[in-house]
Amino acid sequence: MKTMKPVDVLIVGAGISGAFCAYLLMRQGLTVALVDDPHRAGIGSNNNPGGLNPLHGPGIPGPMATFALKALGLHREHAPHIAELCARPVPIRPVVRYELALNDTEAAALQPMQSLYNRTEGFAASQVDHTHFLREEPLANPLFQSVLRLEGNYLVDAAGYTATIRDAARALGAQSVGATVRGFLRERGNVVGVMTDNGPLYAARIVVAAGAWLGELIAELGFSLPMSPVKGQLLHIRHPARDDVTHHLSRGGTGIYAHRPGEFLIGGTQEQAGFDPSPTAEGREDLWHQAEALLPGIRAAETCAQLVGFRPTFPDLQPMVGYVPGYTEVLVLGGGWSKGMLYAPALAEAAVGLITQAPSLVDLPAALSVARLQSPD
Ligand SMILES: Cc1cc2nc3c(=O)[nH]c(=O)nc-3n(C[C@H](O)[C@H](O)[C@H](O)COP(=O)(O)OP(=O)(O)OC[C@H]3O[C@@H](n4cnc5c(N)ncnc54)[C@H](O)[C@@H]3O)c2cc1C
Repeated sequence: MKTMKPVDVLIVGAGISGAFCAYLLMRQGLTVALVDDPHRAGIGSNNNPGGLNPLHGPGIPGPMATFALKALGLHREHAPHIAELCARPVPIRPVVRYELALNDTEAAALQPMQSLYNRTEGFAASQVDHTHFLREEPLANPLFQSVLRLEGNYLVDAAGYTATIRDAARALGAQSVGATVRGFLRERGNVVGVMTDNGPLYAARIVVAAGAWLGELIAELGFSLPMSPVKGQLLHIRHPARDDVTHHLSRGGTGIYAHRPGEFLIGGTQEQAGFDPSPTAEGREDLWHQAEALLPGIRAAETCAQLVGFRPTFPDLQPMVGYVPGYTEVLVLGGGWSKGMLYAPALAEAAVGLITQAPSLVDLPAALSVARLQSPD
């Protein structure tokens, strides 16, 4: 590896969190390097359906509500500048989500959702009658009890979007290094860089945005974080009969997401399987089963791929941003669980505020602090 001059900030991990952090730091005029392990790159931020749904998830409504809405606002706000930098469109778009209820319990759960959407600026929800919905989605299960049409959410093509944010950071001058970080370099008690399988890299500050692997790197500093991977499998299918469908069909936790014309993502599973990257027959069957409840004939579609991703997960399902206790040079950034694509720009913005000590555009909820998961000695 060519010797790299020390940078202001070295970011470990070029998934969506690291990419946004690099882009925002470059905009502040800092020198930045993004280091990513070529063997793990893309497992998190490429293999997900890219739903930006700020009114759903743990702590919403509640302590995460404002943060989630701010995050969506930042995705939208930065898109024109990113498109200009990369000279191509950013793969983000508004999406209509139909939430189906197949029984009384599911129908009752749609009522608070409807009210939350209708009292949030920029969002709307309305009940759709059977005939209208079946005109929109003729292949849907006709036995549904009610359907809510939700507006205000966005969708990104996860892999294309992450690559675009990374390219924007590079266009501003961020350096990219393909290497595996093995540990931290210390001088007189301070962290001054990282050791990779290709040699040392020096920086004034290090942001660890290593997704589900964040905990194992931070452990090297003698600090333990209860981070674990929640495996998620997805089916990427081609269904030409629904060529012009652009909406997202959802029921509880399962979704059928319009990915590209005639292509859809079904998912995802939630499994405690460590870092096992293999797609399984059980996972595939589970996904077909859930999708058939929404679109009974869907199994006839062609399977393009069965994808596996890891959700970086803390026990309270909330993300994290902040300095590692005892270190003024190392920050952690991530832990987005099933909302990591959504939260990335807001988490990155908060990290930039901590690094530059400038007033941040983002109010950081206490729920995201590093200290919250510190176990007493
Ligand atoms: C099935 C599924 C569905 C999902 N659906 C959604 C959704 O609809 N909406 C949403 O917002 N989120 C969703 N998510 C969650 C989202 O994908 C993640 O939260 C997000 O991608 C995490 O991004 P990250 O940048 O923090 O981590 P990652 O994308 O995992 O990036 C971490 C990077 O660190 C690198 N790295 C790790 N260790 C090292 C090392 N030692 N040296 C160098 N590099 C290292 C890896 O190579 C990797 O590129 C879903 C996830 C799954 C699996």
